[in-house]
Amino acid sequence: MVLLLFGPPGSGKGTQAARITRALGIPAISTGNMLRAEIDADTSLGREAAAILTRGGLVDDSLVNEMLAARLLHDDCHDGFLLDGYPRTLSQARHLDRILCDLGFGQPLVVHLEVPFHVLVKRLSARRQCQDCCRVYNGGFRCEDCDGNLVQRIDDREDVIRERLRTYQVQTESVVDFYLYGNYHIVNADRPPDDVYRDVEGLLEPVMVRASRKSTAA
Ligand code: AMP
Repeated sequence: MVLLLFGPPGSGKGTQAARITRALGIPAISTGNMLRAEIDADTSLGREAAAILTRGGLVDDSLVNEMLAARLLHDDCHDGFLLDGYPRTLSQARHLDRILCDLGFGQPLVVHLEVPFHVLVKRLSARRQCQDCCRVYNGGFRCEDCDGNLVQRIDDREDVIRERLRTYQVQTESVVDFYLYGNYHIVNADRPPDDVYRDVEGLLEPVMVRASRKSTAA
């Protein structure tokens, strides 16, 4: 199955993605984490992306599309995957549609996490991320999972946060229209992660039942 986690920066996509992938056994692919890994490795893509991330804009569609298409060919994506932070533009949504068709996947399940704007600014300013495993925290210094350093992302400064939210409103919300009449669901994410996950789990249930029927039949 293919699941798209949709929502503005700070809506909790990373946190929910980790739980969903544990439940479904599919990889969570975050284009933001992939781009940050390119920046850390100082590749040519990373150098190109760094300036864009720092000012809160979007990396060029063709670069992100190519990076994602290559990632989806890995073996771990064979039975499905979750996308966090992609697609972010209409052109990316169309590109993904073609890839899913080529790979023989059906319509994706789209989960849209909704949070009011003022809550997002507060959340993002406090956010810290593990430098090693990318787990997200609300403040703190060391990762509970791998003891890595918790750092503030280069794009989690207040001026950049406002720009990212503006970018989301201008470009990404049009992507919602692309999926609106498909398997699309809005979840109120202005709640503790456990409560949000309970709703997400409800949406996943039919998928898990289908998957277990398939494996029993095989
Ligand atoms: P995220 O971790 O998803 O909030 O992404 C961090 C930043 O990476 C974004 O603000 C963009 O600059 C860039 N980025 C991540 N995913 C995409 C994408 N699908 N298209 C364009 N830029 C992206």
